[in-house]
Amino acid sequence: MTDNNSSASENTNSNESASEKEQREHKEAMQTTQKVVRDKIKAAKEKRGVVIYLWGNGKGKSSSGFGTLLRAVGHGQRAAIIQFIKGTWKTGEEAFFRDHPSVEHHIMGTGFTWDSQDKQKDIAAAQEVWLKAEQCLASEDINLVLMDEITYMFDYGYLSLETCIAAIKNRPLKQNVILTGRSPIAELIELADTVSEIREVKHAFHAGVKAQKGIEF
Ligand code: ATP
Ligand code: MG
Repeated sequence: MTDNNSSASENTNSNESASEKEQREHKEAMQTTQKVVRDKIKAAKEKRGVVIYLWGNGKGKSSSGFGTLLRAVGHGQRAAIIQFIKGTWKTGEEAFFRDHPSVEHHIMGTGFTWDSQDKQKDIAAAQEVWLKAEQCLASEDINLVLMDEITYMFDYGYLSLETCIAAIKNRPLKQNVILTGRSPIAELIELADTVSEIREVKHAFHAGVKAQKGIEF
């Protein structure tokens, strides 16, 4: 007798071994996933820049920001890095991107705020670097703007959140923006298209491992 429904017969094949069954079920699950993913890809038609907000107390925010920047620059795009807290260490990312022809690099002119303890000096430094950020956010030539550790500026009241949000909203349509920092700022969560909380599960520092070159800075 001819079988007109081969997939049904496949599903009910009593001669099927355990490994064949496992393979068939895996294939069916993958086909379902493939269809869901393909449908989602088809549905996503809008072409515009996005705002990515990475916050939380775990390790991985700035390194993700710089990793994405590397990706953009690798495709020949232009990028800007605005670092709102300047560490006392020379970072590898600064050394790498400092003289890169496709990357503008602006670093706040004071050290860690809890080291400098001079509020007026910090406010002036924050506002000075913010002017650079504003120029980058207004530039059609810059594809990606990374504003690293910006949330501290709002936590300490050094920058106006409203001014920053307005500049992001008015940026060129195709420009992407990445914001990082520890704090979950409700207005930034609302503004951003992609938001990830980087939550600490473990950190080597708590086991007494010293911060190291190439990993922490
Ligand atoms: P990274 O730059 O490594 O991606 P990050 O941007 O997520 O880290 P920050 O909050 O900017 O983290 O902290 C800067 C430094 O503090 C990094 O060197 C990082 O390894 C370290 N760090 C991050 N999370 C923790 C933590 N939970 N405990 C101790 N140190 C941490
Ligand atoms: Mg960081």
